[in-house]
Amino acid sequence: MYNVIVIGSGCAGLTAAIYAARGNLAPLVLDGHEPGGQLTLTTMVENFPGFPDGILGPALVENMRKQAQRFGATFGTGTVTAVDLSRRPFKITVGKDTHECQTLIVAAGATARLLGLENERKLIGHGVSTCATCDGFFFRDKEIIVAGGGDSAMEEATFLTKFASKVTLIHRRNEFRASKIMLQRARENKKIEFMTPYVIEDVGNVEKQALDSVTVRHADNGERKVLPTHGLFVAIGHEPNTKVFAGKLDMDAAGYLIPRKGMMSNVEGVFLAGDVQDHVYRQAVTAAGTGCMAAIDAERFLDAHAH
Ligand code: NAP
Repeated sequence: MYNVIVIGSGCAGLTAAIYAARGNLAPLVLDGHEPGGQLTLTTMVENFPGFPDGILGPALVENMRKQAQRFGATFGTGTVTAVDLSRRPFKITVGKDTHECQTLIVAAGATARLLGLENERKLIGHGVSTCATCDGFFFRDKEIIVAGGGDSAMEEATFLTKFASKVTLIHRRNEFRASKIMLQRARENKKIEFMTPYVIEDVGNVEKQALDSVTVRHADNGERKVLPTHGLFVAIGHEPNTKVFAGKLDMDAAGYLIPRKGMMSNVEGVFLAGDVQDHVYRQAVTAAGTGCMAAIDAERFLDAHAH
């Protein structure tokens, strides 16, 4: 029986684990399908406070993991396959194993959608990015491409014009899902060129470990073009990793969990942290912040409910 189980080992989960471990709660952290979370998909992180020269994303989460272990957090591998939150202790199942806990911190994160190209993942951190706030700075005076037709794509394209000399926004249809105002703002920006309806088919150059081009196909007439570029920002949305909580925890239409009191969910004793409950800020530092809040809330809840 655990005092606290933390689902997810990204910035939010590991920060929650550090706080819970330092509170003598000996938390169990369940790694999930992407141990270390989204930071493992980045290279240099320059906006996490305390690192004036930046730090590599994987190194940052590895440090957090060691810090949690030092205070007594333990780790389990695997993705949670079922949860029973109907009464305490909660039951958390990972494949054949079921763990019991008095409190649960859900920090399962969100996964940035990728285009699904064979070479895309290999170039993440080497020209391909899913986060303009994180990586825009590296593309000063460069020509880059943004993929997508929703508000995220408009927002990222507009933000990236602060750095890039030119942003080409590629969308697979002529119609946009983006709100009128954000689409209009992007259209009025002289640095943004729209290219529709084009489907991105491939990215190069994996051999050089650096993005140098994007191959696109016209969605109607099939014409192909190779566009030289330094950066591709894939802005086609995120998926919160919340399927296992459907019908158990309150979520919005897109599947993001909703905190009800502090970081507590609609279920007493279940707390939320990081991108699983945040589609707005999505930063390492905000994930860490809410991880800290969830752990403090869990600790206070345990104190209040001690037998
Ligand atoms: P979204 O609205 O679902 O849009 C995703 C876009 O990506 C769509 O244009 C879609 O094309 C395209 N897409 C999806 N899969 C693709 C694929 N495999 N290949 C090529 N294109 C693909 O997602 P979002 O833009 O992240 O927005 C999510 C929610 O957050 C929305 O409610 C949005 O309003 C909100 N949001 C708000 C703000 C803001 O107000 N500041 C900023 C960002 C997001 P199709 O249209 O052809 O399907």
